[in-house]
Amino acid sequence: MTKHYIGGNWVSASNGATTDMINPSTGEVYGEIAAGTVEDVDLAVRTAREAFDNGVWGKLTAAERGRILQRISNKFLEHHEELAEIEARDTGKPMTVARNDITAVARYFEYYGGAADKVYGDTIPYLDGHFVAVVREPKGVTGHILPWNYPAQMFGRTLAPSLAAGNATVLKPAEAASSSILRLAELATEAGLPPGAVNIITGAGSKIGAALTTHPDVDFISFTGSPEVGQTIQKLAADNYISCTLELGGKSPQIVFEDADFDAAVKTVTAAITQNSGQTCSAGSRVLIQKSVFNEFMARLATAFEAVRVGNPEMDHTCGPIITERQRGTVQGFIDRAVADGVKLVAQGSLDEAVNPKGFYVRPSLFGPVPEMHELALEEVFGPVLAAIPFEDEEDAIRIANGTDFGLVASVWSRDGGRTMRVARRLRSGQVFSNCYGAGAGIELPFGGTGKSGHGREKGLVAMDDYSNLKTMVFKHD
Ligand code: NAD
Repeated sequence: MTKHYIGGNWVSASNGATTDMINPSTGEVYGEIAAGTVEDVDLAVRTAREAFDNGVWGKLTAAERGRILQRISNKFLEHHEELAEIEARDTGKPMTVARNDITAVARYFEYYGGAADKVYGDTIPYLDGHFVAVVREPKGVTGHILPWNYPAQMFGRTLAPSLAAGNATVLKPAEAASSSILRLAELATEAGLPPGAVNIITGAGSKIGAALTTHPDVDFISFTGSPEVGQTIQKLAADNYISCTLELGGKSPQIVFEDADFDAAVKTVTAAITQNSGQTCSAGSRVLIQKSVFNEFMARLATAFEAVRVGNPEMDHTCGPIITERQRGTVQGFIDRAVADGVKLVAQGSLDEAVNPKGFYVRPSLFGPVPEMHELALEEVFGPVLAAIPFEDEEDAIRIANGTDFGLVASVWSRDGGRTMRVARRLRSGQVFSNCYGAGAGIELPFGGTGKSGHGREKGLVAMDDYSNLKTMVFKHD
């Protein structure tokens, strides 16, 4: 797929340039994507604007938009296995995970397809002789900049609510994982989405991501990625007088009290950091364990970690490779520095003997006790590395849990209902789970962060708020 997808057509980069795609499971080049230019961004945005202002898309009723989104959902399900294979090759995910991701993107279009004609405005009692209506209108052209960890899911998470609200869209996937997104866009057209409603441009973020954010015809930006780039996006959006949602990183804590159900907690805590090889913004990357049970819980966690296997998508183990060689180096760097600093490496998972040695693999690693001020306790690794930190009591647990710059997801494990509620209410976090963990789960559940984890909420009906403007209309009558 060496071209952009603009206005329902395959379009080469204006200068014909391409970038290699690397298979993370083998380290080998397996294709190319268009290396987009500022001119390509302009073409994509103008195409979206035309579709919104004058095209078929902009004239559809909400019910018609909803029906198209539902058809897109069905189309994705018809191509389920093909899409899962594309996603697994691009990202290295185990096939089971890739299949789940395709089920999720279909579900996003089903959910927001159903919502399209059910989110509406209001009337407000006002002065005598006046009638006030507040209507909800699409913003126009929305820009979407995505990371590489869940490309297909994020296609659904960010585009479906925007389309349901009536916008036309331009999406820039991450350089390392663009293939599924291009195919999803093509399938959406086949399902009846009018041309120009979805446009995909591929290439370098610093060039075309920035150009998309500052384009005068873009009305809103949805960004998911690192806190550093998120900060840049917000500044660029401010220069363009537009708003943005930022879904950034996390250092999400799972708090295990002495009265927790250990069997359930060990299983979930392990899954929450090994899922997608820890490359999940809402990965449960810290486990806070009450001191009275620290050793006992750690012993059980160690057994679970040692059972984690790493392999390529077809081996379908728990973990796949890390997305790029550079990112693998970053994750391994955290592991190596922690060992060098004398932090106890308690357990590691293992690589399947048959993995390609040129793939970007790391061994899932459990460290603990990790000193509270160590980088492993404070910084996002974005890999399968779990930091275990002991705490004394409720107050201490809340202090440590709230002690990073992030605030995305948290969980509380205890059989004491009052305690789970007390603690949950005091955690600085966009989502809190009690005796379970969702890693941002649930298309129906509002999701987003505080602090360095970003702002704005995606998922659920509330996601449509950011993709629409309210217009207040006051009619004076006799
Ligand atoms: P990244 O910030 O490097 O890249 C994200 C996207 O931004 C890519 O498409 C990239 O090309 C683009 N980009 C890069 N520089 C840009 C610039 N100057 N202007 C405009 N766009 C630019 O992040 P990544 O490496 O792709 O993903 C890893 C990070 O993303 C992690 O920190 C992770 O926590 C975060 N993340 C967050 C969520 C969430 O929902 N909160 C989900 C996935 C990933």
